[in-house]
Amino acid sequence: MNIETLAIHAGQDIDPATGSVIPPIYLSTTFERAADGTFPQSYMYTRNANPNRTILERCLSALEDGVECAAFGSGLAATMSIFQALRPGDHVVAPDDAYHGVSRLLREIMARWGLTYTAVDMTDLGAVRAALQPQTRLIWIETPSNPRLKVADIEAIAGIAHDVGALCVVDNTWATPVQQRPLELGADLVLHATTKYLGGHSDVLGGAVVTRELSPIFEQVRFLQANGGAVPSPFDCWLLLRGIQTLAYRVRAHAENAMRVARFLASHPRIERVHYPGLETHPGHAVATRQMRGFGGMLSIEVHGGEGAAMAVAGRLQIFTRATSLGGIESLIEHRASIEGPESKTPPSLLRVSVGLEHPDDLIADLEQALAE
Ligand SMILES: *Cc1c(COP(=O)(O)O)cnc(C)c1O
Repeated sequence: MNIETLAIHAGQDIDPATGSVIPPIYLSTTFERAADGTFPQSYMYTRNANPNRTILERCLSALEDGVECAAFGSGLAATMSIFQALRPGDHVVAPDDAYHGVSRLLREIMARWGLTYTAVDMTDLGAVRAALQPQTRLIWIETPSNPRLKVADIEAIAGIAHDVGALCVVDNTWATPVQQRPLELGADLVLHATTKYLGGHSDVLGGAVVTRELSPIFEQVRFLQANGGAVPSPFDCWLLLRGIQTLAYRVRAHAENAMRVARFLASHPRIERVHYPGLETHPGHAVATRQMRGFGGMLSIEVHGGEGAAMAVAGRLQIFTRATSLGGIESLIEHRASIEGPESKTPPSLLRVSVGLEHPDDLIADLEQALAE
């Protein structure tokens, strides 16, 4: 079945009790036992499982072509569950430009757990191989990357991981399953900050892990979900599902608008560089063309004149909102270096743009006036 259909039907049966077409929100934290002590509907307590979470998880695993999914209260809670499924002493290879929260987890939290890691440029397969150690258990990929939209070759890196018996995990938040299916390219797990495109409306926080097969690592993620307790509320799950139903249509429109905005910016004299994998000049264009079905709705720009000029451009925009996050209906722009903090390697002239679903002509007109002065 196609992703548009799965988004609307996978996991979403008509409610057997009432005939409700759209699932009700099951707020109950606890579920009745039968007289013989069993749980006939398999629900016991909402931290372990809840009907709204089950619906969301079934839908997400269908979208990624996986076998199971575990949903969490945020993208970082989901990320943490994967790292905690490893053992102290294990080693992780991670991107040198991973989402800053993922790098911070490794550096400031998982280091105390005894997990070691090496940060490498994932576009350099030789560097990925050179970073492997005897204790390497996992290679973490994020593609396209944040904020420079670097493109990592998922199939090649999954091969490198599997050659040494390590796992390959892909953070697929930016591309979404509409434009990239890491499990089909050999990845073992997919990570999502469902906060972004899956929810799609900047009004719910969530995360998810989808697995290609029922593996020991996924069993451990599932165990941590129920027993660590970083679970999404039933209403969060319901809102996420509502967002997911229109995912394919939104993502295609985001990507179309991003391509138009990127082409406009690439031709503007005040812009030094545009990072968008849809542009033929982008170093990851060939790999992106091979492994993606479209180039996503995110791009970043470097403005001539450094940090001050970049801030001034962001300050003059009327339609783009200056705010962090991405993947919602509204266009956002953000000065990344200042949010990433002192460890950041992002150029101070860089602005990251989440291209929304406003009309692209209006977005381009807004950028034109902000760049005119
Ligand atoms: C936002 C984001 C995360 C973290 O998700 P939260 O829901 O904010 O915890 C992880 N990876 C990527 C690529 C993101 O954009």
